[in-house]
Amino acid sequence: MSTFQAPKGTYDLTPPRSATFLAVREAIAAPLRDSGYGYIETPGFENVELFARGVGESTDIVTKEMYTLTTKGGDQLALRPEGTASVLRAALEANLHKAGNLPVKLWYSGSYYRYERPQAGRYRHFSQVGAEAIGTEDPVLDAELIILADQAYRSLGLRQFRILLNSLGDKECRPVYREALQTFLRDLDLDEETRRRIEINPLRVLDDKRADVQKQLTDAPKLRDYLCDACKAYHEEVRALLTAAGVVFEDDEKLVRGLDYYTRTTFEFVHDGLGAQSAVGGGGRYDGLSEMIGGPELPSVGWALGVDRTVLALEAEGIELDLPYTTSVYAVPLGEEARRVLFGVVTGLRRAGIAADFAFGGRGLKGAMKSANRSGARYTLVAGERDLAEGVVQLKDMESGEQNAVPLTEVAAELAKRLG
Ligand code: ATP
Ligand code: MG
Repeated sequence: MSTFQAPKGTYDLTPPRSATFLAVREAIAAPLRDSGYGYIETPGFENVELFARGVGESTDIVTKEMYTLTTKGGDQLALRPEGTASVLRAALEANLHKAGNLPVKLWYSGSYYRYERPQAGRYRHFSQVGAEAIGTEDPVLDAELIILADQAYRSLGLRQFRILLNSLGDKECRPVYREALQTFLRDLDLDEETRRRIEINPLRVLDDKRADVQKQLTDAPKLRDYLCDACKAYHEEVRALLTAAGVVFEDDEKLVRGLDYYTRTTFEFVHDGLGAQSAVGGGGRYDGLSEMIGGPELPSVGWALGVDRTVLALEAEGIELDLPYTTSVYAVPLGEEARRVLFGVVTGLRRAGIAADFAFGGRGLKGAMKSANRSGARYTLVAGERDLAEGVVQLKDMESGEQNAVPLTEVAAELAKRLG
């Protein structure tokens, strides 16, 4: 193993690809900011119970995927595997729900950690942008979030994604279904681990990827037939709102998702160009989570979109984001005196808000011009001894190739004018 290798299941974001990641984060965040969601940031780790209780002790995330550690002081911590439990914890701690302004709408962006088997699109460190709307039960809110995620993906140019939608019922109807499902599942021919799963989280068995398991599930009781009238009406309203907004979705009654805390609306965004790791984002309503972690009743809904997989989806669709070069002006000094003078010019440009870079290390004209080209700068400034003696620099337009001498004192104004 090379000394410079990132840990298994992780990778670094380096230029130029890293610029795409930033742009994706920004594209997901923009519609949220424009819709009343405020930015929240929480620690990268939490007390382990927050996730054990909140995410659900029977989920893969808690049983297999969580990075836990004991501090020198004896505290049991976990690197955050997801954002919702932390955001809700933070909102409760700050009493945001008591400010008389429900729902509390928050968005976040950060790193998440899961001890998974690394594969394409599945990493041990990954990045999400998420949104949570806390404290209100209103189908319009569920629809708003799905519409905003759809808008974010579309703004990136993505087209080959689908929205899967389902309702998981509530604390009235889901337990009845759960029991009916358990009775059905107990009669099937299943391995030990799956049999254990029947007892703790039977809905997850529906999500089993194995063909021999799926074959046995054809006649399983359907959650749809067990939804109470209130859940049915709520779900119909969400569907109608999405349809009215022109957002196309598919009803998927097998969609149960990985976390225990979901109620009613559940959805997933899947991309058809990603192979096995097709979920680019997902979310849903979690009306019981606040109480589960010791808070008051706060019906809420949210989603998290995976930044890594969204970038892979862009690549799968062959989409190159139109990312403007960041450097506008590139300065190439020829000689010691010119270095000092041109560096002063660059500093002045930067202070005036013009993005400028400099040929460092005293390289020759040819190498420096190569760097200028690579930087994507629209203009270069070149100066040698003779230019300095005349009090000018050579300003070259890299697009037209035109070059003319500009007095040193006027460079900043001239560039500001040309760059608009
Ligand atoms: P999957 O079924 O693929 O394991 P999940 O249901 O565990 O996904 P969520 O917890 O809903 O995923 O997280 C939301 C999004 O975060 C996912 O849709 C995905 O894009 C991304 N994500 C989750 N786990 C990983 C991972 N290990 N590596 C990269 N991205 C991930
Ligand atoms: Mg998972």
